[in-house]
Amino acid sequence: MYIRRATKIVATLGPASSDVQLLAKMIATGVNVVRLNFSHGTAQDHIDRAKAVREAGVMAGREVAIMADLQGPKIRVGKFAEGKVMLQEGAPFVLDASRTELGDFQGVGLDYKELPRDVKSGDVLLLNDGLIVLTVDRVLGTAVHTTVTIGGELSNNKGINKQGGGLTAPALTAKDMEDIKTAMALGADYVAVSFPKNATDMEMARQLCTVACAPGQHRPGLIAKIERAEAIPRLEEILKAADGIMVARGDLAVEVGNAAVPALQKKMIRMAREMDKVVITATQMMESMITNLVPTRAEVSDVANAVLDGTDAVMLSAETAAGKYPLETVREMAKICAAAEAAEDRRQDAQFGEREFTRIDQAIALGALFTANKLGAKAIVAMTESGSTALWMSRHRIHTPIYALTPNISTQRKMALYRNVRPLLMDTSAERDKALVQAEGHLRMRGIVQSGDVYAITCGEPMGQPGGSNMLQICRVQ
Ligand code: PGA
Ligand code: MN
Repeated sequence: MYIRRATKIVATLGPASSDVQLLAKMIATGVNVVRLNFSHGTAQDHIDRAKAVREAGVMAGREVAIMADLQGPKIRVGKFAEGKVMLQEGAPFVLDASRTELGDFQGVGLDYKELPRDVKSGDVLLLNDGLIVLTVDRVLGTAVHTTVTIGGELSNNKGINKQGGGLTAPALTAKDMEDIKTAMALGADYVAVSFPKNATDMEMARQLCTVACAPGQHRPGLIAKIERAEAIPRLEEILKAADGIMVARGDLAVEVGNAAVPALQKKMIRMAREMDKVVITATQMMESMITNLVPTRAEVSDVANAVLDGTDAVMLSAETAAGKYPLETVREMAKICAAAEAAEDRRQDAQFGEREFTRIDQAIALGALFTANKLGAKAIVAMTESGSTALWMSRHRIHTPIYALTPNISTQRKMALYRNVRPLLMDTSAERDKALVQAEGHLRMRGIVQSGDVYAITCGEPMGQPGGSNMLQICRVQ
């Protein structure tokens, strides 16, 4: 049932994927990370979902990571008296921050009260992911007067973006701060920050997570969703402050224009890998499978190309949250990933040979990778406390599978997102020589290595120190 592949799958949960049995099937079929979307639902919904995910993981015999995705300062229109209106091209339409009555065909309220200060005459506003376009004529007090440039149906709470960026809302809202507490309480392994503009936004989120963590609780990995025009020139500082990024193509495309996104995707994936960070490619990857049993050819190519770009993970949004075929979508996506990987260029990336090492454990990780690759080893095994050796190993285009053995379940879950890393739980408290024998037993038992196979293994002496890997051994199974 499980299709062996290096690229990981992130699936957003929602009404279509709340059932524990179905979740267990989705995990058994290929979901590695689940995303809880804090733009929808209550704190209790997310707590219940997280509990169901942990149960399903046990049923499927696979640990998955939980990613809490904060809503952020998504700017939305208010609600309409009739739930929706039809906007006609050329008609006037007023977005008014102080409007309290429900909207109609002439105008609607706003949840983001600062919008009138952030826009001026001539600005272009894109609503509902760019399907509706309004041009600002003038701002009068709290009211933004616009003309409809591209009309269509506008319904309750649809998002607003400004072309070219420039909305000043802070990345973490009061709701996000509350949601961080919920995320830590339900044991999220990753927190995704929406609409960060700079490193400070990420540092702030990290502090809030640290404060919300229980004593001894593992700190979550932080993912910066790159979806604002302003974030692009600041990618390097954002990457430094984060553990990974999401190529959040939905909002990003609206701000920078659709045509700029594929090149930005390639650049972001390359930069993330070069800086030892993880990267998720997101939005509309299998969109048509929300209602159809088969993806379009274009979607198949899109997923395959993200794999070839070197992404750690590909993400499903409404496909698994609200679609008709969540399980089938995961299966199709897994197949596409596996086929793209088989076609991947297997030469080492140039960067690999040029690298200077700054840490002993890093030198061991990349030494293992180099040696295993040149020797044609069956597997690379990293005994890791924090997961950092496995992360370094997974930043290069090497196809030898990496098995990361850790005694720490939080590390195991976090590594579920790393490309080409299979995280396994193993008690490594024994002294080194015993632990090495145990590790081989573990691999044999799982059918990963057999008599005669060669594998590379890294560990630390003494065992059990985060960042303590200092030994590489090449072994032949007896
Ligand atoms: P969202 O983020 O689904 O939370 O909007 C992803 C994106 O914008 O692509
Ligand atoms: Mn978004």
